[in-house]
Amino acid sequence: MGYAEVSVNSPVAQRRTFSYAISPGLSIDVGQAVWVPFGDKLLQGVVLQLTDYPAVEETKEIAGVIEPHPVLSPSQILLARWISEHYLSPLFDAVALMLPPGFERKVVTFISAPLTPPKQDTSSLTQKQRHVLELVWRRGKVTLKGLERVLGTRQARLITSQLVNQGLVVKSYELERVKVKPKKVPYLRLAVKASQARHEATRLRERRAIKQAGLLEFLSKASQPLPLAEVRKSVNCSASVVAAVVSKGLVELQQVEVRREPISYQGITPSYPLTLTAAQKAALESIQSSLFWMAKGEASPSVFLLHGVTGSGKTEVYLQALAEAVKLGKRGIVLVPEIALTPQTIERFASRFPHKVAVLHSKLSLGEQFDEWQRIKNGEFDVVIGSRSAIFAPQPDLGLIVIDEEHEWTYKQDTSPRYHARDVAIKLAELTGAVVILGSATPDVETFYRAQMGNYQLLELPERVTPSEGSPLPQVEVVDLREELKAGNRSLFSRSLTQAMAKAVAGGEQVILFLNRRGGATFVQCRNCGFVLRCKRCEVTLTQHFAEDVLVCHQCNYRMSIPQICPRCLSRRIKFLGIGTEKLEQEAGYTFPQARLLRWDRDVTRGRYSHEEILAKFRAHDADVLIGTQMVAKGLDLPLVTLVGVVSADTGLNLPDFRAGERTFQLLSQVAGRAGRGTLGGQVIIQTYSPEHYAIQTAAKHDYASFYDREIAYRRQLRNPPFTRLACLTYSHANDALCQREAERMKRLLVEEINSRGIADLSLVGPAPAFIHKLRGRFRWQLILRGSEPSALLSQIPIPQGWMIDIDPLGLV
Ligand code: ADP
Ligand code: ZN
Ligand code: ZN
Repeated sequence: MGYAEVSVNSPVAQRRTFSYAISPGLSIDVGQAVWVPFGDKLLQGVVLQLTDYPAVEETKEIAGVIEPHPVLSPSQILLARWISEHYLSPLFDAVALMLPPGFERKVVTFISAPLTPPKQDTSSLTQKQRHVLELVWRRGKVTLKGLERVLGTRQARLITSQLVNQGLVVKSYELERVKVKPKKVPYLRLAVKASQARHEATRLRERRAIKQAGLLEFLSKASQPLPLAEVRKSVNCSASVVAAVVSKGLVELQQVEVRREPISYQGITPSYPLTLTAAQKAALESIQSSLFWMAKGEASPSVFLLHGVTGSGKTEVYLQALAEAVKLGKRGIVLVPEIALTPQTIERFASRFPHKVAVLHSKLSLGEQFDEWQRIKNGEFDVVIGSRSAIFAPQPDLGLIVIDEEHEWTYKQDTSPRYHARDVAIKLAELTGAVVILGSATPDVETFYRAQMGNYQLLELPERVTPSEGSPLPQVEVVDLREELKAGNRSLFSRSLTQAMAKAVAGGEQVILFLNRRGGATFVQCRNCGFVLRCKRCEVTLTQHFAEDVLVCHQCNYRMSIPQICPRCLSRRIKFLGIGTEKLEQEAGYTFPQARLLRWDRDVTRGRYSHEEILAKFRAHDADVLIGTQMVAKGLDLPLVTLVGVVSADTGLNLPDFRAGERTFQLLSQVAGRAGRGTLGGQVIIQTYSPEHYAIQTAAKHDYASFYDREIAYRRQLRNPPFTRLACLTYSHANDALCQREAERMKRLLVEEINSRGIADLSLVGPAPAFIHKLRGRFRWQLILRGSEPSALLSQIPIPQGWMIDIDPLGLV
């Protein structure tokens, strides 16, 4: 008899697997999803290993198979084990990352007749037992749920288990089916003959119904029904124009079922490889040679860092490297920081690999996601594009992984398993024999350090690809806001920015204003007693939002109406302080009444408009000024933008986080990269109270090398990553004092462990209240463990209930 080591979907399983026996009739593969008895329950599990001997003496048997084919590949199994060990997460949490969407669906229990009819005597059965038996035999298969509805839960379970014990019926388990709704799309066709339609069009023209006439003429030339959206785009008409010709009986609207394509290829024309610049060519050749030797199995996996400013042609290198991988019979995965913000990038991939690109995003229904997963697994796509979780796509023959904007923080997951997609990608490449390209204009200093040390190969694209000589990097001016105050200017806009904006708008050019805070006033204070309104559950200040006229907690989304009087002293002198994007929009409206404004932040996109709509509007020059949070900094190519104003560079600079300087440098460089993408040239104005700060100074000069030198020196001096690794341990509880005591107890425990094991290079910081001390009603205390391998120690000791561990944490939590 064979045995299987199974990762079980139970919180008590933690990082362990469990041994189960495989009954002789069952054929089980590694990576297969199975049902296993666990305590008194039946749970889902995934087979990670087959063995000849069980790890424990007493084993139960695997109860059944969930899917006939393995759901995880052998390298995915190794990856799941690595994630669980490295990030100290429950093993099944790591396994679950790679399961098909909707896998954790409801179990349906079936009762059916045995394959060979049992010979035993059934005369001793009770009437109810016989009743159930006859029903099952007659139907062949019924659900336990169905029996429960007829007999009541207890009776149904009792009787079926009696019949199962006697071998008269058998139990099996299946997953509820995912329902994939067919996608229907409205189509338009003429309801009359083409000649009549043309005749009607002439009459409509006479009556000045020009749009309706145009629509009819367009359709009269079509030989078959056309998608409504396409028709509306082509003749540029509104829904009411369509409704008018439909109501006249001239045109018919019909719903046509279409095969869902992950990308709408409508309007995307195929593109071909560009002739590379010398720098691009050198970069591609290094990657090509690595791909070639990897495919032959004669090289060890390599990681490339492709460092180049925005517009230096990184994406073109990704595209040609992917084409090379495909030529060698391999496929790729491309990670982007946020799928909704990169429609242009996706279009470029889709046009280079028509119908061979899968896009994974959360807007798809569960059924559609499942469908897509299955198609990827079947090998239907050369390239899979998605945000961080796309690294777990079942892409076969993986040869190349691209991580665009590798420095972005969205690659780190903030729930268990707290993995970083870049580190997972590098591990996966090592396991599958793939090449990794990390691309960025402002690489994470940890990544750049590894490239300097020779762990990664550094490829540089030092200049923008300029079709004409027109677009070098933009000029950056740093404005000292203290000087503005001295000169009596208390507005949000410095004199420089005001002038530049007025000039750009008057000249028919476009402007981006960047401010990394949402909302109106960012805190509300009583002028009489100084009381500041805070969220009762999180203790952070509440932000005013104009649209709904409420105060909102940006941590937990708690909302309250804006008080007319101070809750503490009853004074009416309530003051609104601090600025967010809503307030900025309002102020810009007063200062530049002639400019058409458009705001782009999470509040807008959550509501009526999508990212695409806002971008399309701005690109069509329906607005002069785009006001937004870091979304405006993403990889957009907007040729009419000649001016970018950073309203306050200080928002992130003063946070108590060793990465504050790096974060500011990255954001400023990215925002600055938005200006001057066209032939009109560009200018950037950064407003700040700390103009001498190295992050601002170096960003203004587009000088990554100087920034890196300063930053890495600080990191070395303070023993921060990449010179150490961190683990952040957080304990939360409704009682602050208890929380602190537990943190101190944990510290003593860790110190004891460190001393008794004699680990010299591990140190502890804290305990201290977390940056957000109170979150959703719970207080939080933290300990930071710093050293060469903190997870090695933590994995050895039992971590008490209530502790949350984050390995390689990012940012303040
Ligand atoms: P990045 O990804 O570094 O921002 P892109 O690959 O998007 O840079 O290139 C910037 C612009 O230059 C794009 O419009 C792209 O089509 C164009 N481009 C890139 N490489 C070349 C090339 N070798 N020849 C001509 N144009 C190029
Ligand atoms: Zn007050
Ligand atoms: Zn809150």
